[in-house]
Amino acid sequence: MTREEKFLEKLFNKYYRSKGSTIFAPSMIEKREFAFIFFGKEGMLRHVSYRSVEELKGFISTHTPKHVYYSSAYYKYPSMDSMDEKIWEGADLVFDIDADHIPTDCKEEHDFWICTSCNLSGKGTPPSKCPKCGNEKLDSLKWICNKCLDAAKSEVEKLLDILLDDLGFKEQEIKVFFSGHRGFHIHVESEYIRDLGQDARREIIDYIEGRGLDIKLFRRGDVLDIGPDRSGWRKRLFQFLIEFLSEEEDPLTLSNKVGISKRSAERVIRVKEDLLKVILSNPVEWRVIVRSLGERTFERIVNYVVNRNVPSIDERVTIDTKRLIRLPGSLHGKTGFKVQAVDFSNIWDFNPVEHACVFPDYEISLKLKRPVPSQIFGVTLDSKKERIKVPLYLAVYLLGNGGATLD
Ligand SMILES: [Zn+2]
Ligand SMILES: [Zn+2]
Repeated sequence: MTREEKFLEKLFNKYYRSKGSTIFAPSMIEKREFAFIFFGKEGMLRHVSYRSVEELKGFISTHTPKHVYYSSAYYKYPSMDSMDEKIWEGADLVFDIDADHIPTDCKEEHDFWICTSCNLSGKGTPPSKCPKCGNEKLDSLKWICNKCLDAAKSEVEKLLDILLDDLGFKEQEIKVFFSGHRGFHIHVESEYIRDLGQDARREIIDYIEGRGLDIKLFRRGDVLDIGPDRSGWRKRLFQFLIEFLSEEEDPLTLSNKVGISKRSAERVIRVKEDLLKVILSNPVEWRVIVRSLGERTFERIVNYVVNRNVPSIDERVTIDTKRLIRLPGSLHGKTGFKVQAVDFSNIWDFNPVEHACVFPDYEISLKLKRPVPSQIFGVTLDSKKERIKVPLYLAVYLLGNGGATLD
């Protein structure tokens, strides 16, 4: 085990033994599989089960894992080694929203690449090969900022809207957790979804992402049945179109974004204002829209507004009925942040340093090993210096990510 790992393990242990540590007990804990990764050890300990949260807490505080996971699934025999012997009895519905998958401009500022051969590094998205030595193996160093986290929050909001309004889950069936790193996990526990297999879960994704949405299905004779007083996609599409038609855009940008010819884009810009009136009127006249835009162009626009507005979720996580997910209340081994429950109403107030940080802020000295952004969580880092002094929580974050070593 490296010095750094020993240091982190000691800090994690102190936290897990403290009164302030809050391990969350998943419902029906005795039916869940638990899994652990430890400091300084390869691989994952799997197929562990507990009869109570006290037993689980006892294990965590004596063995101090680096990462703790539990199964979204319920099993009859969760500690059996083979999946078949476990006997699957259902699973929660889980969503993963990660800033990593959401394009934000700030990534060009705070992410780096580094050549594994000559150590040359640079900002932003890695080039296809190292400009100095031609090596194609480049490591990415990804960091988080508030802008990235805000982007993830806005995706959480979109998803919650659909889960509550369209799919009819109750607030108490949904829990939102900060993942401890770059995003949020949304857990839905409800008897209505527990038995669903992969295909059914994929259909839920399709609905959320508006995949295969055909605008003609919303047509009732001469009327396009969308509006602010409708529900689900009829309401959402209305909002998306209003937003789109209120934007100013030049023909070239519009044609590129929407995937229509420049001539069609010019036409869209010409009729935009009238079209806005049509969409805002009741009923919305299908004929008028098609006459001014053409059916194909309108379909392209619908496609475009749907795609740019649907929540960005990692669908593999949701479809998987045997997923291991991070245990709320446990610490993320790469960041030291706690997997923290976030109130629906307070999503925008949430910030990791204030709400998911369990370590004090006295300063310790580190040696920088790899490129770091000039600012993390509001703390300015002088990345040109070899040695830096940072608050302990940030030190844990930098050590866990491999950005620094102990001085
Ligand atoms: Zn190189
Ligand atoms: Zn960012």
